[in-house]
Amino acid sequence: MEKFPAVFIDRDGTMNIEAGYIDHPDNFNLYPFVPHAVRLLNTHGFIVVVLTNQAGVGRGYFGEDNVELLHSKMRSELSKGGAKLDAVYYCPHHTSSKDPKYAIDCDCRKPRTGMADRALSELPIDTDRMFIIGDKMSDIKLGKKLGCRTYLVKTGYGLREAEKNPESADIITDSLLTAVLDILQISRQAQPDQTPA
Ligand SMILES: [Mg+2]
Ligand SMILES: [Zn+2]
Repeated sequence: MEKFPAVFIDRDGTMNIEAGYIDHPDNFNLYPFVPHAVRLLNTHGFIVVVLTNQAGVGRGYFGEDNVELLHSKMRSELSKGGAKLDAVYYCPHHTSSKDPKYAIDCDCRKPRTGMADRALSELPIDTDRMFIIGDKMSDIKLGKKLGCRTYLVKTGYGLREAEKNPESADIITDSLLTAVLDILQISRQAQPDQTPA
């Protein structure tokens, strides 16, 4: 089966404007360049997967229905820009939860690999060509475990994270869009020569 390169993308502070625990779709707004960035990945044959920690569920700030609502808005805003996500995974758990369903020391909360492992089992991802883009060290740490090229963006918490951990990521860059442009350039350079001998 043919395999495709993949980009794992964090949600809050990377796709949408960081706004704390978002409990209503009105407070969920993509950065304006995001549909363009995702569309570029789509048209260049990348699998695009969003991985997001949503401990607000476990902490009781909002329910999974709210998370699903925000993700519907995310998909519809992307679709207006001609872009789509191949999958979205979220972790609702938090060890401090009062609900036993969520109060588990799960394997999916980033930087743990559970959500990415699921993506690898469900999608035809070429594990030699994986990238991760996020605004926190948990994204970068996850990417290193998976063997991704890691991009720390300066949106969201990224600027603060970059100041604290300047050596952490392979690339520190302005935004999701500049990260994607770098990924496309790197991937072009890595293309084998297709000219017949
Ligand atoms: Mg984030
Ligand atoms: Zn989890």
